Amino acid sequence: MAENVDMEKLPKFLPSCHKEAENLDIIFTCSGAASVGKIGHEVGVLLTKAGQNARLCCTTAVAAGSEMHLDIGKRARRVIVIDGCPMKCATKVMEKAGIKVDYSFTVTDFGMAKQPTLDISDEDVLKVALAIAEKVGMKLNVNSKP
Ligand code: SF4
Repeated sequence: MAENVDMEKLPKFLPSCHKEAENLDIIFTCSGAASVGKIGHEVGVLLTKAGQNARLCCTTAVAAGSEMHLDIGKRARRVIVIDGCPMKCATKVMEKAGIKVDYSFTVTDFGMAKQPTLDISDEDVLKVALAIAEKVGMKLNVNSKP
């Protein structure tokens, strides 16, 4: 029943990246299976939640040739790529797909070593997110709930 719905617990829906690509900074992360890949993914999540008109999008869908996701990348206001390590897999995916990359960041460039773990710290995520936000001129609401 509607009166029993806790509005605070409802998911916050994101803008449609396909409908609104021209108005959005579209973020692609490598989401690699190592510390820095996971940090990069969580940075993308944080920028989506706390940034202005920023939206994480599906890197794997671009790699798979999804026409809709290729279109999103090509229409985006800006494309921001966050890779974990110097292999720069997500940036290569975009380049192969013909998507113009406005910013390409690598987590290891922020002083973090690539480790074989998925246990990462919120502090490292925040550090990279704040640095990227500053570089691209994105204001963050750092009080946003994780
Ligand atoms: S850029 Fe590095 S961390 Fe990311 S998917 Fe490629 S090898 Fe893994």
